[in-house]
Amino acid sequence: PTIPVVRSNPMITSSGGKIPLGLKRKALRVVVTGGAGFVGSHLVDRLMERGDQVIVVDNFFTGRKENLRAHFGNPSFELIRHDVVEPILLEVDQIYHLACPASPVHYKHNPVKTIKTNVMGTLNMLGLAKRVGARFLLTSTSEVYGDPLEHPQKEEYWGNVNPIGVRSCYDEGKRTAETLTMDYHRGDHVEVRIARIFNTYGPRMCIDDGRVVSNFVAQALRKEPMTVYGDGKQTRSFQFVSDLVEGLMRLMEGDHIGPFNLGNPGEFTMLELAEVVKEVIDPTAKIAFHPNTADDPHMRKPDISKAKELLGWEPKIALKDGLPLMVEDFRQRVFGDIQEKID
Ligand code: NAD
Ligand code: UDP
Ligand code: UDP
Repeated sequence: PTIPVVRSNPMITSSGGKIPLGLKRKALRVVVTGGAGFVGSHLVDRLMERGDQVIVVDNFFTGRKENLRAHFGNPSFELIRHDVVEPILLEVDQIYHLACPASPVHYKHNPVKTIKTNVMGTLNMLGLAKRVGARFLLTSTSEVYGDPLEHPQKEEYWGNVNPIGVRSCYDEGKRTAETLTMDYHRGDHVEVRIARIFNTYGPRMCIDDGRVVSNFVAQALRKEPMTVYGDGKQTRSFQFVSDLVEGLMRLMEGDHIGPFNLGNPGEFTMLELAEVVKEVIDPTAKIAFHPNTADDPHMRKPDISKAKELLGWEPKIALKDGLPLMVEDFRQRVFGDIQEKID
């Protein structure tokens, strides 16, 4: 009898090329540091879906096991409680290095720990990449542009960052992480990729992490006034998490080091964002003005021409379409919390 041939879809190889129909792509061993967090857990979902063997390394500072529950018991998935500030030995093909608190409230909570995570954590992951010959991707940030004097921001812009301010542990930390990444590339020939991520939102964000989208959504659901800091005229550009994950994977699989801006160029003032949240959740929602925090960047908008051209990537989900996708998740968690407190 003839043996049936299982024809699978063409799959993307690690170098970005297509494997012919019928041939199965070799599963990669991939580490995701910070994989229990907001972005990391969505990335893990995609990697698992693709058939990779995924190891998450996380110290659960802001991440939650709950975010990875779908993969517990899957032999291709492993979760290690580990702080990236300490060395670790693993045998892997790719390293997505996300471990680092991302919201200002979290990263200012223990600034020395934040900079250690950015510097020593990144050094350890690069040392690991060097030892095993893995490809390394750094999730840097639009914060490397500081309070930008150019608008929109291109990757060539060097930024306007206060080195001694309350945000420095994060933005200078990420700038150093980028430096380390390039030095391991030039000095030790480690294959590296750098993404500069702009404000991202979606399901699984920490509800009380103080970021503006999570704050406004949770406040509107709880019928509390939305807290606008300063005059609300500062701008940000908000990207839905699935667009970011697609960009990160294309960057890892592609041939270009970067840095690449990964963000949605749709730019909003905080007052405009509050209006969109009102439309989506509650037209009667109120706004309360609060003093702004120190060194708050006045505007931020990515120029994504480079990612469009070299990665064939651009975001697909506009704010008004993405917000409803996170509201259901928040509704369940916000009202689940209240129910737990009553019980
Ligand atoms: P998050 O806080 O949800 O996730 C960070 C994860 O890293 C958490 O699971 C946390 O427990 C873990 N972590 C923190 N310190 C660690 C340590 N020392 N050792 C091991 N694990 C540690 O944040 P996120 O929004 O998912 O961000 C992920 C990455 O993307 C971060 O590097 C962040 O700087 C970057 N980024 C995010 C955004 C955004 O808007 N979400 C914007 C720019 C850059
Ligand atoms: N490192 C790690 N895992 C490895 C290899 C290295 O955590 O598999 C750490 C190592 O402990 C060191 C850092 O990465 O702190 C940088 O390693 P590298 O080999 O570049 O530097 P060296 O050990 O020579 O200082
Ligand atoms: N912000 C706000 N209300 C909030 C939280 C934040 O108006 O409840 C403002 C904040 O001052 C900043 C913008 O929203 O100008 C984005 O803040 P976030 O902390 O989300 O991200 P980042 O400053 O890192 O871009």
